[in-house]
Amino acid sequence: MGRKPARSKFMNNRPPANSRYQPTTYEHAANCYTHAFLIFPAIVGSTLLHRLSDDRWKKITAWMYGVGLCALFIISTVFHIIAWKKSHLRTMEQCLHMCDRIVIYFFIASSYAPWLNLRELGPLASHMRWFIWIMAAAGTIYVFLYHEQYKIIELLFYLTMGFSPAVVVASMPNTDGIQELMWGGMLYCLGVVFFKSDGIIPFAHAIWHIFVALAAAVHYYAIWKYLYRSSATSTWKDF
Ligand SMILES: [Zn+2]
Repeated sequence: MGRKPARSKFMNNRPPANSRYQPTTYEHAANCYTHAFLIFPAIVGSTLLHRLSDDRWKKITAWMYGVGLCALFIISTVFHIIAWKKSHLRTMEQCLHMCDRIVIYFFIASSYAPWLNLRELGPLASHMRWFIWIMAAAGTIYVFLYHEQYKIIELLFYLTMGFSPAVVVASMPNTDGIQELMWGGMLYCLGVVFFKSDGIIPFAHAIWHIFVALAAAVHYYAIWKYLYRSSATSTWKDF
């Protein structure tokens, strides 16, 4: 099947179900730049949290979160560069697309890790500390088995993983930072509208990237402010 002609420089036609949208050159560029510019701030931000850590557990958690944050922007950028410039390398592009989707699961887990690791949780809720990583692993297996086949199920997986730990976090005795977490969550949800709007809204995927960046920034700010900056912040070990 030949490629349909571009509707404009800024958007192509929507693809049939279960096939991938082909961005225009302008969209490809926007997809790359919107995440490439965040790699350096992500590395600096992660390093800062590591330096602010005053115990080993905080250091380990800073690593978990930092690796997830940097990996998201690095893998996304590499995938979008290959999709733009090297799309003839089909296997490589396909592999990176899978990585781009897998890293989202690990990014969600690592975004929750500081809250789950460094705050007091109830006996039942504390299981979420390891369960988020099981969910990320399950998401990875799902990508290997059904990549690009059932997109609605994929979206439901992301939303389940995004929201179920929030229930636990909301039940914490210390509620500082909950508001920022909610704002970040809302930004991700708004972004999902654009994530699903390729070929309907010009630059939809790049707009999704911007929402991800804004939400990640809000969450980073909350983690820095409430869990790392203040040495008065009590950790779960103090209880
Ligand atoms: Zn992307």
